[in-house]
Amino acid sequence: MTLSLNDLPLRDDLRGLTPYGAPQAPLPIALNVNENTHPIPDAVASDILDDIALAIRDVNRYPDREFTTLRESFAEYLGHGLTPEQIWAGNGSNEVLQHILQAFGGPGRTAFGFAPTYSMYPLIAQGTGARWIPGTRQPDYTITPEEAAEQVRTADPDVIILCTPNNPTGTPLGLDVVEAVYEAARGIVIVDEAYQEFAPHDAPSALTLLEGRPRLAVSRTMSKAFAFAGARVGYLAADPTFIDALRLVRLPYHLSTLTQAAAVAALRNSDVMLGMVEEIVEQRDRITATLEALGYTPHESWSNFVLFGGIADPRATWQQLFDRGVLVRDVGIPGHLRVSAGTEAETTAFLDALASIGSAS
Ligand code: PMP
Repeated sequence: MTLSLNDLPLRDDLRGLTPYGAPQAPLPIALNVNENTHPIPDAVASDILDDIALAIRDVNRYPDREFTTLRESFAEYLGHGLTPEQIWAGNGSNEVLQHILQAFGGPGRTAFGFAPTYSMYPLIAQGTGARWIPGTRQPDYTITPEEAAEQVRTADPDVIILCTPNNPTGTPLGLDVVEAVYEAARGIVIVDEAYQEFAPHDAPSALTLLEGRPRLAVSRTMSKAFAFAGARVGYLAADPTFIDALRLVRLPYHLSTLTQAAAVAALRNSDVMLGMVEEIVEQRDRITATLEALGYTPHESWSNFVLFGGIADPRATWQQLFDRGVLVRDVGIPGHLRVSAGTEAETTAFLDALASIGSAS
């Protein structure tokens, strides 16, 4: 007899949940999890390898628990006058978010975000025992400062996650919304800027709001623009006291010596690492224009992906693309699919495959 989860003494609040499960199918064109599909340049790969080769000699010892050099590197990369004391990092921004939810969420507490948003937020919150409260957006996925503040006042959550540009919709969020939410909230406010590097260059970051707001944190990741998803490195900036709270819940030595060495070397090469961003943004805009021409309704995106509507049967279209070797994402929004901007060739393969299926509904 095969065992089911119900046969184990699982926590009651985890019963009935399904794990994060974006398919990892070995298709030639994988545009489903918003990765940077450009491999890191050879010269940078060699430079990073040199540092890893040195670091491997030290793996008999535990890593620097405070990842001092890495925090210095992130402070320098982010600018805005940030100091290393204001930086935290983890194995992906998912872990950084988990640290925040462990410290400020947990049993009896609530976490809030404007749905549809990143599907891991409810899972990370529930994993710590916190209850997830979904807020709402306008039909075009925007939110005004007034309605955002109103919803936050009503829900009165312990933790709020604002995703900008928002996954899975691509929608940017004005800093006026962040300010209004912070004012309306008594809890922690996280601005998840995982895709910030793909936004227009003059788009202000919530990093500019950190001064004087001790309950605010801005998280970022190396998984997207930096083409470093497999290395698992995410980070955040906040008040040094906020960072101290995260030290209470992290496991000691959570960032391996090899991860720290790789990330520091990658950041040293950030100009080259980020060299692909412009091209990805071009492909994103080409996707939007071509989808419009095909009769679909793409939503405005400041990220490296496009959510598009006008699909009669997303499940069927997803399968037809799959059968043509192209993996996109069904994010569960009726009539919609999401596609990441790939290289020029991958993007062309997606657009050709979609065109071969027929036009929009
Ligand atoms: N935030 C958002 C909005 C994301 O889309 C993702 C990845 N899809 C993450 C955080 C987590 O990324 P990582 O753990 O790779 O840093």
